[in-house]
Formats: sequence, structure tokens, C-alpha cells
Amino acid sequence: MSFEEQRHALVEQLAARENLGEETLAAMRAVPRHEFVPESTRDDAYSDRPLPIGEGQTISAPHMVAIMTDLLQLSPGESVLEVGTGCGYHAAVTAEVVGPENVYTVEYHERLAQRARETLGRLGYDDVSVRHGDGREGWPEYATYDRIYMTCAAREFPDALVEQLRDGGVLLGPLGNGTQVLTRARHSGGALQRESHGRVRFVPLK
Ligand code: SAH
Repeated sequence: MSFEEQRHALVEQLAARENLGEETLAAMRAVPRHEFVPESTRDDAYSDRPLPIGEGQTISAPHMVAIMTDLLQLSPGESVLEVGTGCGYHAAVTAEVVGPENVYTVEYHERLAQRARETLGRLGYDDVSVRHGDGREGWPEYATYDRIYMTCAAREFPDALVEQLRDGGVLLGPLGNGTQVLTRARHSGGALQRESHGRVRFVPLK
């Protein structure tokens, strides 16, 4: 099977198993995950599992990217900040929904940030903005954001991220150390209203 056929088959499986919106499924069908992962893992790019991407980091399993994309309730034109660019795959999925020029992503490891920038550029996502830095600080220059999500775990949503989220905006990320819970919070009148969306396992925030 070609990579494209494998990808479409994977998205069919996800669609049958999870309750995912049509925009999310379309985004998952569009982004070539095999182009983002290291050459040596390409043949596994369309298995539903995490893969190593270098620097001791991993790319989340496709179902997790799809679930997070859905939970963010994205609409075209909304601005989104991602903490933890990794290889850039998840940022590309987000870009499919909101438009690449609305996606800002911060990565702690310089080599990963550089590689993600190159891959995103090569695949036509050059309008996604990638910054090398500490995502705990967010990216103040482009704040506020409609949506912010973390792809690495923290005990609590960092204050800077809460401050950079617009009123009514949505924050999403794995919280906890040891046991992590995927947590979605809506910013409303200065307070965060939280919901839990199951146990997850992500690498910890640096
Ligand atoms: N979304 C990524 C997967 C990310 S894995 C993808 O699609 O590939 C989590 C990433 O968070 C790793 O690349 C790790 O280096 C990064 N990270 C960890 N701590 C961070 C921090 N404080 N700021 C920004 N990125 C961080």
C-alpha cells in the first residue's frame, strides 16, 4: 500500500473507533505523517502509535492528535499556540483546520525546532511560525490566542499561557506528574473551568 493509502486506512479506523468531527478527519487525511518522522520509522508512520523523533522525544499516536484537535473545537481563522513543536506534525494538523498563518508553536530543543521548520516549509506549511524557546513562557508577541495546547505534561497550566489566552478561549494539555489527565479548560471571566478527558501519557515539560 502507498503511504497515502495507509494514511486513509488509518483515518477510517480512527473514524470508526473515536467520535471525531469531519474537520479533524479531513486534517488527518491531509497531513503526510511519514514526512515528519525520522526516515528509519517511516514504515510505521501509519500505525496508531507514538514514534521516536530524536532528542529523547516522541510524536504522539495519531488517535491522540485527532482527539486533541477535536477537543480544541477549532474554527478556520482562529489563532492557536502550541507548546512542544516536536517534529511539527501536530502543528500541521492544526494548520489544516485554522490556516497555517494562524499557528504559532514553541519548541525547547533547537534541533527539533530547526528540523520542524524545514519540514513544515517543504510541505507547504511555511506560514506556521516556529520559535525555539521555553513554551512555559508562551509567545507573548502574538498573544492573545483563541486556543492554546501543550503536547508535553505539566503539573498545572503555566501562568503565562493562561495570561495569553483570550477570554472565552480554550486551553488543553496533559496535567499531572506520574498520572496525567488530559485537561481542557475554558477561560471565562478570569477563571478557568476545567474538564477531564481521560488518562494520558506525554513527555514532561522541560
Ligand atoms: N507535537 C509534537 C510532539 C511533541 S512531543 C509533534 O507533533 O511532533 C513534546 C515536545 O515538547 C518535545 O519535542 C519536547 O522537546 C517539547 N518540550 C518539552 N518541554 C518544552 C518546553 N518547556 N517548551 C517547549 N517545548 C517543550
